[in-house]
Amino acid sequence: MYRRQIVITHYRKKCIGCGVCASIAPHTWEMDDEDGKANLFEGIPNREVVNARITADVLKDNTEAADQCPEGIIQISQ
Ligand code: SF4
Repeated sequence: MYRRQIVITHYRKKCIGCGVCASIAPHTWEMDDEDGKANLFEGIPNREVVNARITADVLKDNTEAADQCPEGIIQISQ
């Protein structure tokens, strides 16, 4: 069965640790105890960003998180 590939890109260096993403989409994001920034579950660092695949069932929450992120540093591509 064909599964759509959805990827989140997080410009983590610019994260201010406000916690909005983890509040809206706690299945995808958690706050880092050490530096206070957001982490993507199963995120893979790639130069300046961190990428993670998500499934379609959490796309809606993550789209809202991206819209609400005050720094505009969450991008979703599909
Ligand atoms: S909403 Fe944006 S700035 Fe706030 S913690 Fe998440 S990624 Fe960082």
